[in-house]
Amino acid sequence: MIAANAPTKDITIRICRQDAPGKPLRWEEFSVPYRPNMNIISCLQYIAAHPLTTEGRQTTTPVWEAGCLEEVCGACTMVINGRVRQACSTLVDGLGELDAPITLQPMSKFPLVRDLMVDRSRIFNDLKKVKAWVPIDGTYDLGPGPVMSQATQEQRYPLSRCITCGCCLEACPQYRGDNDFVGAAIVSQARLFNSHPIGAALKEERLDTLMGPGGISDCGKAGNCVEVCPKLIPNLESIADVQRQVTVHAVKKFFSGK
Ligand code: SF4
Ligand code: SF4
Repeated sequence: MIAANAPTKDITIRICRQDAPGKPLRWEEFSVPYRPNMNIISCLQYIAAHPLTTEGRQTTTPVWEAGCLEEVCGACTMVINGRVRQACSTLVDGLGELDAPITLQPMSKFPLVRDLMVDRSRIFNDLKKVKAWVPIDGTYDLGPGPVMSQATQEQRYPLSRCITCGCCLEACPQYRGDNDFVGAAIVSQARLFNSHPIGAALKEERLDTLMGPGGISDCGKAGNCVEVCPKLIPNLESIADVQRQVTVHAVKKFFSGK
């Protein structure tokens, strides 16, 4: 940890760059004046305004994605010093000695757009596959919503904090470009909506999807998805719970002959 009154100096940021999918990959190094409490986004903003490498070569502005800048949208998720996390909430002071270069890489499990920006569409498409919503018709007044017990609310609230950042998917050995595994975030969201009194109307459809290819049985239960989640979502608990739901659903289907 670096003290807030550390002397002014430059820090080194190394960025893994690629102009487009399939283009050659290169590392570029930049010097950024240190300020106490600066985050990685502020380093990138400085580099964008001064795209000059430490070798004195003018280069293009690195590309990254960011939205809310308060760890809510998940857009600035990248691999910082080898660990997947958000660039907005990662402080330089928390990364160790100022002398050591800070490395920035794009997430590897999603198609690259350019430099640090990736396409996370797979997450949103998989959320659609499991119908991660409450089915209501918004065209007329439905009256007050159903009452949920305190215990149900307390179980559901942590799941509702997911920011679809993709950290759990990046860290998951089972989530790969060559398979359809939906990953922990989607399982947690299926659990969230299965436990909603109205969302439960689609429970069987969600479980049908999670019984199929890319579903819950692809999970190896290593638990990396819990370690890296910035919102402390109990992904392993969700996986165990949804696994039970899938088993009961499969048995019911077997005996009903459907
Ligand atoms: S428990 Fe392991 S295999 Fe299962 S989703 Fe989490 S990281 Fe992936
Ligand atoms: S479960 Fe956690 S790590 Fe995974 S997408 Fe949601 S917030 Fe990110």
